[in-house]
Amino acid sequence: MSNITVCARFRPLSSKERRDHGDGVCIRCIDTETFILKDEKEEDIMFSFDRVFCEKSDQAEVYEFLVLPIVRDAVNGINGTIITYGQTGAGKTYSIEGPGILECDEQKKGILPRVVDGIFEHIKPDKMAKYSIKLSMVEIYMEKIRDLFDLSKDNIQIKESKIQGILLSGATEMSIIDPAEALQSLSAGVANRAVGETQMNMASSRSHCIYIFTVQQELTGDKRVKTGKLVLVDLAGSEKVEKTGAEGRALEEAKMINKSLSSLGNVINALTCGSGRANHIPYRDSKLTRILQDALGGNSRTALLCCCSPSVFNASESLSTLRFGARAK
Ligand code: ADP
Ligand code: MG
Repeated sequence: MSNITVCARFRPLSSKERRDHGDGVCIRCIDTETFILKDEKEEDIMFSFDRVFCEKSDQAEVYEFLVLPIVRDAVNGINGTIITYGQTGAGKTYSIEGPGILECDEQKKGILPRVVDGIFEHIKPDKMAKYSIKLSMVEIYMEKIRDLFDLSKDNIQIKESKIQGILLSGATEMSIIDPAEALQSLSAGVANRAVGETQMNMASSRSHCIYIFTVQQELTGDKRVKTGKLVLVDLAGSEKVEKTGAEGRALEEAKMINKSLSSLGNVINALTCGSGRANHIPYRDSKLTRILQDALGGNSRTALLCCCSPSVFNASESLSTLRFGARAK
């Protein structure tokens, strides 16, 4: 059985889409797993994923189906990754952050604040076990890794250690003691991301944002520690850049994003189609896949959320997002 869960999520039609392109919707859900996309040639293409979240489904449903099993594993020392994929505006950041990290509306809260609550609910510190929770937050832009807790660290290197696995050398690791503190740190990181974007004149949709929770469990009277890593990835937009339109930096950005998204696809394919140890997994082809190396594959769990606009106007981008998801199965 594959350790990767692939889901699709369709956000509601936006008022801009309604205004500019009308009410036309290209998606029809058949049941909780099957849906049909009408492509530009009006042809029906059927998909079957582990779950499809239609526009009426809420944040709690996404969390419980896709994320909660990974939270449970992480507190037990098993690594996991949750990835949002899709064109800019498709709902990746909304799924992960919600309307804001500090959102109080229980229905609208995104995956991140739910993960924070989930980790603290599932750890059971007692005489026998001590826990420590650490949090890092980085951004990959043009194959350079920046620390979102300390913008002066703008060229973080990836190292690999026999014991700790993949490490972001020198990246800030916040020690998290309670959920409120974790949310404050995350919200500071998100604010830093915006500051960096302004400084670099860059759109957030052009970088990958990565949140890494490390949960360490120490059993008293036992020298062993169990470490579980939970990684959340808000990918750069997957849209195709107009071949004629983009030049200069925009074109360079597009090439880098393309390269890292296709290397992610290749790694996932190699993991799902792989036959035994001889199979080579091309983690080293991009910074993104290298960071995810020990949280993708092995006995770790991966969840891929393919985010799509339901508008007929975006049918071809939605199709390409769903094909990425279908290939990952
Ligand atoms: P992305 O990160 O993929 O570029 P966003 O998450 O920023 O896209 O979403 C684009 C817009 O759509 C935002 O204004 C967001 O609030 C809204 N949106 C996305 N998903 C949903 C949803 N499931 N329900 C309501 N609004 C959503
Ligand atoms: Mg976004």
